[in-house]
Amino acid sequence: MAITHNLGFPRIGAQRELKFALESYWRGESPRSELLARGAELRARHWQQQVGLDFAPVGDFSFYDHVLDMSFTLGNLPARVRDFQGDALDNMFRVARGRSARTTEDHAACCGADRGAGAHDGTDQDVAAGEMTKWFDTNYHYIVPEFVADTTFRLDATRLLDQLAEARHTGVRGKPVIIGPVTYLALGKAKDDSDKLELLPRLLPVYTELLAALADAGAQWVQIDEPLLVTELSPAWQQAYRDAYAALDTGKVNLLLTTYFGQLQDNLPLVCELPVQGLHLDAVHARDEIDSVLARLPADRILSLGVINGRNIWKTELDAVLDWLEPVAQRLGDRLWIAPSCSLLHVPVDLASEQALDADICAWLAFAVQKLDELYILATALRLGRAAVQQTLAANRAAIDARRGSPKVHNPAVQAALARITPTLGQRRQPYPVRAARQAERLRLPAFPTTTIGSFPQTGEIRQARSQFRRGEIGADAYRAAMQAEIARSVREQEALGLDVLVHGEAERNDMVEYFGEQLDGYAFSQYGWVQSYGSRCVKPPILFGDISRPRAMTVEWIRYAQSLTDKPMKGMLTGPVTILNWSFVRDDQPRAVSCYQLALAIREEVLDLERAGVRVIQIDEAALREGLPLRRAQWQSYLDWAVESFRIAANGVQDETQIHTHMCYSEFNDIIASIAEMDADVITIETSRSDMELLDAFDNFSYPNEIGPGVYDIHSPNIPTQAHIETLMRKAAQRIPAERLWVNPDCGLKTRQWAEVLPALANMVAAARTLRAGA
Ligand code: GLN
Ligand code: ZN
Repeated sequence: MAITHNLGFPRIGAQRELKFALESYWRGESPRSELLARGAELRARHWQQQVGLDFAPVGDFSFYDHVLDMSFTLGNLPARVRDFQGDALDNMFRVARGRSARTTEDHAACCGADRGAGAHDGTDQDVAAGEMTKWFDTNYHYIVPEFVADTTFRLDATRLLDQLAEARHTGVRGKPVIIGPVTYLALGKAKDDSDKLELLPRLLPVYTELLAALADAGAQWVQIDEPLLVTELSPAWQQAYRDAYAALDTGKVNLLLTTYFGQLQDNLPLVCELPVQGLHLDAVHARDEIDSVLARLPADRILSLGVINGRNIWKTELDAVLDWLEPVAQRLGDRLWIAPSCSLLHVPVDLASEQALDADICAWLAFAVQKLDELYILATALRLGRAAVQQTLAANRAAIDARRGSPKVHNPAVQAALARITPTLGQRRQPYPVRAARQAERLRLPAFPTTTIGSFPQTGEIRQARSQFRRGEIGADAYRAAMQAEIARSVREQEALGLDVLVHGEAERNDMVEYFGEQLDGYAFSQYGWVQSYGSRCVKPPILFGDISRPRAMTVEWIRYAQSLTDKPMKGMLTGPVTILNWSFVRDDQPRAVSCYQLALAIREEVLDLERAGVRVIQIDEAALREGLPLRRAQWQSYLDWAVESFRIAANGVQDETQIHTHMCYSEFNDIIASIAEMDADVITIETSRSDMELLDAFDNFSYPNEIGPGVYDIHSPNIPTQAHIETLMRKAAQRIPAERLWVNPDCGLKTRQWAEVLPALANMVAAARTLRAGA
């Protein structure tokens, strides 16, 4: 009893082998054959690591993105690449990366990624890269399928069939993984505003054909992923599920309908009635629903329970899972399968790679390989009784208990501070109009004040100094001198440009979250804890393991130095609590809100220290505030409540004359504008240039009460905006926002750009602001 399986394994490689192979191929430094060989090697290695499972996933590997793979499998290529004559893999990279240094919509890109400065595909055509967006509520980004009213589909099963054969060769029992038709349609975008659902009848025959091909190739089960089922569905989309699964029920192969990341809620009855042979549920996030599913599910169905959390890096409390699972197993007998809650794509590969982590903390963690070990233990305990794995369970219990009681995790002073939080902590002393007048008097800024978002180009010298310092090749003094030289340079440039509110340039920061995590107590850092963000891009989220405190000021010395070089106001530059939280692996032993409030208190101390040091303007970036929105709209408000309150606690302890800025770099505000306004920052700078100021519609009707800096320089592109273009954008903005509340600034930080691009662009920006001021 209890069949074990896995929904997906990280594909990037424990040492990010896939990343390096891809990038070397894209640079033209290695042949395609080598990239293909690396891919095959990784698949083989990963199947070896899953050899103990009854079913291992096949088709979860991807050279770029599994949604894009599915588009190719279904023959749904954007028209612009359809008649490409070359290799299919190159064509896929063209869709993924485009041909020119192109822009992307996501934070990862805004923090430094251009997807490709031209793929090496031997053509001269420019191809726009496919749009990218986040995969449900994860930090993984997929390439959005494109549809038009007359989109047709055609099966190409080669990838899946080849990999199924490979898996068999490796000695694992393969279970192909595909994205289900309804989720696939929902993930895509109709480019012509047609109704995507009308494509379903055309799509289903291709799926039927695919399932038949997989059955012919020996697949017993196919995992068909429909995570859309954990979101709110309209009746039309619910009906699409009935239609789709009626059509796919051909009796050729068993379907494991797979949902994850959340609860089914209203979709629960629907899911139980679909004619499939098995159902996978996320038994971490939807455990409360398992009883109702058990009550409804027809007696011949397999129920796969995702009992190991595939979204975090913590050890599972195995005893607790068994306490709950054993009676369920009794009821289900052979019908029970167990697995991680979702694909392990969202966790790092192998804890065994970590050499430098604190030993205590290491003992509390589990990456993908360790999570599968946990699954084997659970299966053995179910098959043979807990006594058969007594020692392992005891060791697990000891680790769980140690974490629970550890003084590294629990800091009474932090908890006491948290208990003292009252609503007044998040309130400015006076309302915005009063503050604005005091700030104006103190700062004496012109109309249409100019500023930048924080970072200046991270040059080769900066990176070199940082890595020399890390390797111990230069000492702290030499490092500080190198960073100060960079700061001095950026202050000089900004003064020469005539900007009004200056920044220090963030030379000393490797990353806007890691930089703060490294200085806060309660954070740990892995060496190889990489998780794929998109394509070859990975992130290494810091691990928030304990109560957060700030042993000493984190930014004050740098800002003080920068301010000493100029009379213009120098912005203090911080990352906000919500963004730090959303880009970290967080604790599972307390609500996210609690961790966020702790971060807020730490950032608040920094804000107050900056103010005491004479800093007149403080920017607190919340680039990832929107990313934290829950999957279901019904839960948005409760997230926004604590997220906004955390920002307010961090920011609003200052005097009226201190000006608080915040920055957000995404382009959807309509549905959260009220919460953004509640943050009550004096100034918000946002990304707008690519939306032609349309996004300001959210801030329209003069409904946003404070000052706004709509980005007028698309920093994702090497193009230099002209003065005329910037003026046009600002005039459009002034139609929506009163001119006296407008700032002039780029979309985001400039760290990925070159000085040679930045200087003329900012010169045009300053010139445009001067023209506007002159009333021209
Ligand atoms: N202050 C940061 C910078 O300029 C903001 C980055 C971001 O919003 N992603 O780099
Ligand atoms: Zn930004």
